[in-house]
Amino acid sequence: MSTGSSVTADARAAGPELVRLRHALHRWPETGLHLPRTQEAVLAALDGLGLEIRTGSALSSVVAVVRGTGALPGGGARPSVLLRADMDARSWPCGGCGRGPVGRLVGSGPPRPDQGAHRMSDHQDPEASAALRADCGNCFALCCVAPAFSASADFAATKPAGKPCGNLGADFRCGIHTRLRTEGYPGCTVYDCFGAGQKVSQITFGGQDWRTGPRSARRMFEVFPVVRDLQELLWYLTQALALPQAEPLRPDLVRARDRTERLTLGSPEELLALDRTAHWRGVNDLLLRTSELVRARTLGDKRKNRRGADLVGARLAGADLAGANLRGAYLIGADLTGADLRGADLIGADLRGADLSRADLTGSVFLTQPQLEAARGDGATRLPAGFTRPGHWNA
Ligand code: SF4
Repeated sequence: MSTGSSVTADARAAGPELVRLRHALHRWPETGLHLPRTQEAVLAALDGLGLEIRTGSALSSVVAVVRGTGALPGGGARPSVLLRADMDARSWPCGGCGRGPVGRLVGSGPPRPDQGAHRMSDHQDPEASAALRADCGNCFALCCVAPAFSASADFAATKPAGKPCGNLGADFRCGIHTRLRTEGYPGCTVYDCFGAGQKVSQITFGGQDWRTGPRSARRMFEVFPVVRDLQELLWYLTQALALPQAEPLRPDLVRARDRTERLTLGSPEELLALDRTAHWRGVNDLLLRTSELVRARTLGDKRKNRRGADLVGARLAGADLAGANLRGAYLIGADLTGADLRGADLIGADLRGADLSRADLTGSVFLTQPQLEAARGDGATRLPAGFTRPGHWNA
């Protein structure tokens, strides 16, 4: 139990575990009055907290009784206060495709025919995806300090690793945020830490920033790229788990995701001692098998292998690349206008300056928002669910 002064710190410490529980519940949403999997997860989470637990006999409910143990100085029991936060299973549209709802009020009747088997996991879990996106408001601008920049087409100035960029303000905000492209910093607009910045700032280093805690600054900057790599793997694993074709690999994918998530929560020493290459190799093997399943089952024999191909500046307008393996392909400045990229594997494909106007990327796998930010496109480019059309694309 927490006392008044420790409640905030205790709540913060419990945060990562609570987020994981929420994600687990949303990954297998149960509706109605029979919720065995949810009950099991709730009981596991309450286990060991010393509460009096009762489960329902007719319903899969869980009741936990909290008894206060404090005593008043003059004798007698001190009243206990329980802080409680609720979240209803309200009906809301799917964040992935706008089709909905994915959640319903308990007991609100069967799904309508148009809802079919529509579940949040038909696409990416929006909450899991949100945790894998940069939250600059909770980050100490690590991407503006930790890496070195060389003056180039991406960055107008050179700066060494571990030194703040000259455009960074005392409040950890970029002074030219709205003018990055015109001021010569397009590289900053395509960078994504996959949520590593806020995790390192708020969890690994407990909210201690590098300005007021300079002694831990160096380790913070060393840890940041490690967590960034792990967060990127989590992004791909989260994508893989949302693919119905990957169902045969689900247990392996869940194990890999949970292990990767656990690694991100390690201490700075544990993170710096991690064999990143070995972990990446194991996960990559799994992602490769996922890709094979997706491309084989959705597009039959239309698979094309362009893995790691040098397609810099290639003229691929209108090309049929549906289901193609484009892992790590160099597509810098390629003309992909009107290309069919449905179901293509785009992991690590370098799309800098590639023209995706009118291209169809629906169902493509392992695409990232930074890849889209680095490319060009227009209002007719078809994107997979959950991605945002970059602001610099043509209308
Ligand atoms: S230009 Fe802005 S966003 Fe880019 S590194 Fe500097 S402070 Fe960060």
